[in-house]
Amino acid sequence: MLLIRNNLREVTEQLPAAVKLVAVSKFQPLESLQQAYAAGQRRFGESRADELAAKAAAMPDDVEWHFIGHLQTNKVRRVVAHASVIESVDSLRLLQAISNEAEKSGKVMRVLLQVHVAAEETKTGFLPEELSDAARVACSLPGVEVIGIMGMATNTDSEERVSEDFRTIAELGKTLRSITPDAAEISMGMTGDWSLAVEAGATIVRIGSGIFGSRPPKSV
Ligand SMILES: *Cc1c(COP(=O)(O)O)cnc(C)c1O
Repeated sequence: MLLIRNNLREVTEQLPAAVKLVAVSKFQPLESLQQAYAAGQRRFGESRADELAAKAAAMPDDVEWHFIGHLQTNKVRRVVAHASVIESVDSLRLLQAISNEAEKSGKVMRVLLQVHVAAEETKTGFLPEELSDAARVACSLPGVEVIGIMGMATNTDSEERVSEDFRTIAELGKTLRSITPDAAEISMGMTGDWSLAVEAGATIVRIGSGIFGSRPPKSV
């Protein structure tokens, strides 16, 4: 019972006060989220629209939900209804769909543009050379507000490579700010690499297994 509380305390003690913690609760049972909430955590990360909707309905209203998974356009409505921030915007089509849905419900959706800098082909996101165009499109859409950038480092044991990826993401954050100066958030770093991300300038870290323990297997 105390494990989640202790893990949270350990992370928050090491995290600079200005860096926001997203507790990545995807695939975790509701009781785990409730324990984190009872320990004071208010910002949670989910990667599936249906799971986000179910958990948002069951958790208190003051939770700030960050959507961090690959989002299909047919699930956008559900996510716009519940998320405070969509961190994983990885295509112009998705940007447009989010803006349309947000407009319909009379809100402006805060988003991060996800960039792909890691070596793995499977990861999604805008390529560095696509970022400026994506930022300009985002700025022209009435239903979205770009507040920053999100990225992942290569999955490797090489701390050097991971740090290099994080520095690249932070540089891309500057590119983004040259187009839209208020978009200052840099979301990077997970359980295994968040301290390197903070060193490289992260303003948001997304930590899952380091808080909740290992995830139950995916249910697909
Ligand atoms: C699952 C996930 C995380 C958290 O991963 P951990 O290694 O459990 O901390 C962070 N970011 C994204 C985008 C994820 O999908």
